[in-house]
Amino acid sequence: MKKKGHIIKSTAQNGIAREMGIEAGDRLLQINGKEMEDVFDYEYLIQDEYIEVLIEKTDGEEWLLEIDKEYGEELGVEFENSFMDEYRSCCNKCIFCFIDQMPKGMRETLYFKDDDSRLSFLQGNYVTLTNMSDHDIDRIIKYRLSPINISFQTTNPGLRCKMLNNRFAGEALKKADRFYDAGITMNGQIVLCRGVNDREELERTISDLAGYLPVLESVSVVPVGLSRYREGLYPLEPFTKEDAREVLELIHRWQEKLYPLYGLHFIHASDEWYILAEEELPEEERYDGYLQLENGVGMLRLLLNEFEEALKEAEGNKESDDGTKKVLSLVTGKLAYPYILSMAERMEKAFGFLRINVFGIINDFFGERITVSGLLTGQDIEKQLKGKELGERILLPENVLRSGERVFLDDMTVEELEKALQVRVDIVKSSGRDFVNAILGNS
Ligand code: SF4
Repeated sequence: MKKKGHIIKSTAQNGIAREMGIEAGDRLLQINGKEMEDVFDYEYLIQDEYIEVLIEKTDGEEWLLEIDKEYGEELGVEFENSFMDEYRSCCNKCIFCFIDQMPKGMRETLYFKDDDSRLSFLQGNYVTLTNMSDHDIDRIIKYRLSPINISFQTTNPGLRCKMLNNRFAGEALKKADRFYDAGITMNGQIVLCRGVNDREELERTISDLAGYLPVLESVSVVPVGLSRYREGLYPLEPFTKEDAREVLELIHRWQEKLYPLYGLHFIHASDEWYILAEEELPEEERYDGYLQLENGVGMLRLLLNEFEEALKEAEGNKESDDGTKKVLSLVTGKLAYPYILSMAERMEKAFGFLRINVFGIINDFFGERITVSGLLTGQDIEKQLKGKELGERILLPENVLRSGERVFLDDMTVEELEKALQVRVDIVKSSGRDFVNAILGNS
């Protein structure tokens, strides 16, 4: 049986917990007589100026500590499990799920299908509402946790059941009503599948979701990602240039209708649609403050604008050219390649001492329909750069690495890539300013 309480990993120097004799290895059992389900209960319960904390020491002895503190002051403890609970996995089998399209033999954590509303607030994850209980909704409303990010896909209940392979998926949509009534800010996402939830179904979905405005602040439409590993899965087709133009026309029509009413464009196409349709990216104002960057909505526009600004400043501070050429290489996915190339050309023009090679890597690992840099692997980069003139270093966008680590999706490390290519590899953060600084060697 799971032992009650939450194990404390460490206490902060000069923190309340350490002052009260709480140590690593102790268990936090209760605050004000209440047990805690997860970090949200904990954060809620520690707010008050006076709290009673029940601790179980490592020898089994229980201490009830009375603590007087400032309102909102933290206790200064870190838990072994920072979430204070297990992540919940999903109970769907979506026809478009990318995890089902991954090859076997990758790191086990990559196959975990989470669908946990609590990760919405902590990490911005999108949830389907299918495994959210009334108790979860009550807690979200009580703690005013927002935004809650919802993967809608469609508002047609029957179609949603089919797309998520879950007979409760249509009914689950009603849970969004409770968030709307309680004024809990929401964002939505629609993974568009050709011939399934597009065209008139998309029209219906946007029309229904607009009913949640302005509590639902934004909805993104992203094309389904199709890897090469689809054997035995639902037959899904890639979108064509004409499809992309149709999708954009529909989205723009709704933006024009909704913006005058709510001051929000509300429905947004991810960058991929503009590239596929070969249409200009929208101006910054159309993104309502970039509410869905993590879904690839406005990422390129933001990058380009930041780049322009940073380039202007860098040109102003230009040092004299000593005549030596600096050769370097930029690596990106096929999607952003034309933009990165034109930015590199601008840099070369502005700084005569630079010579920049740009490589758009084809994703052989997942299949060439996957064009984002975030799904590139070390082995594809190595294979496609081997024998090329790379200059003194190569720059890689940080989203090719596992968050906070120097490891690619296929477990190759940056050091292994450096060794294989015999060149220094620099990781560049995502902003246009970082891009300019990294090329100039200022970071
Ligand atoms: S909710 Fe659907 S897409 Fe998300 S992990 Fe589960 S099966 Fe995959």
